Amino acid sequence: MPELPEVETIVQELRASQLIGRKIGKVTVSWPRTIATPSVDDFCSQLHNQVILQISRRGKFIVFTLSKGTLLVHLRMTGKFTLTKEKRAVSSHERVRLELDDGHFLYYEDQRKFGKWYLLTDPELKFQELGIEPLSKDFTLQAFQKLIKKSSQQIKPFLLNQRHIVGLGNIYVDEALWEAKIHPARKADSLTSVEIKALHRAIPHVLKQGIAHMGTSLGSTQANYYSVSGRRGGHQTQLKVFRRETLPCPRCGTTIIKITLAQRGTHLCPNCQK
Ligand SMILES: [Zn+2]
Repeated sequence: MPELPEVETIVQELRASQLIGRKIGKVTVSWPRTIATPSVDDFCSQLHNQVILQISRRGKFIVFTLSKGTLLVHLRMTGKFTLTKEKRAVSSHERVRLELDDGHFLYYEDQRKFGKWYLLTDPELKFQELGIEPLSKDFTLQAFQKLIKKSSQQIKPFLLNQRHIVGLGNIYVDEALWEAKIHPARKADSLTSVEIKALHRAIPHVLKQGIAHMGTSLGSTQANYYSVSGRRGGHQTQLKVFRRETLPCPRCGTTIIKITLAQRGTHLCPNCQK
């Protein structure tokens, strides 16, 4: 599932591909349930003739600021964009296509169909559910401490909850907790100030590394993360614990184990993360 670094990479690519300033022509929806709001008919007619003014990210949402309103796309498990001048027959995974005024097509494919598109007058309606951006100046040690001290949840599900901090998913939570030497089952409010400080440093660190390597692509099937240009991310070779069970911890050599926590496969070093 794309997490903050993968979504950020996609946003940077969409921005670099001269999509900004383009006017949207015909809109075709092949899987109506991809459109969360409004109705498919309204979605198609309202999006038609809109100009894309800006492309940004909020949490794991791709944000298209339009001449009127805002389009939010959440890729969930397997959502994927392709921008090309090639006019294609509708593939079995295509859900939405946008024709642009410069002859390009923006194709959206989603094998698992969990991705959602929202066309909103006011994106704040969606954003108010979201927590702090971990790469913004709002992510201060003080703000993080305050959040953590309020929760008796285990730290892994706490970090996965987008109402606390946005953008983290299974990969980068496991990596950040390893980096900060914290066991994922620890209760949030049991962390010492030294541990909170370490985790506050580890979260942006692992995310920035993921962005620097243009995201993480697991496995090799088409269901995995690919950038807009069809390039695989490079961060999978840099992971310290995620999907590295039975391999030695890069810090201490102890064998990495995999446990199930909050229904998620969770990877940790039993020596570094007690
Ligand atoms: Zn270790």
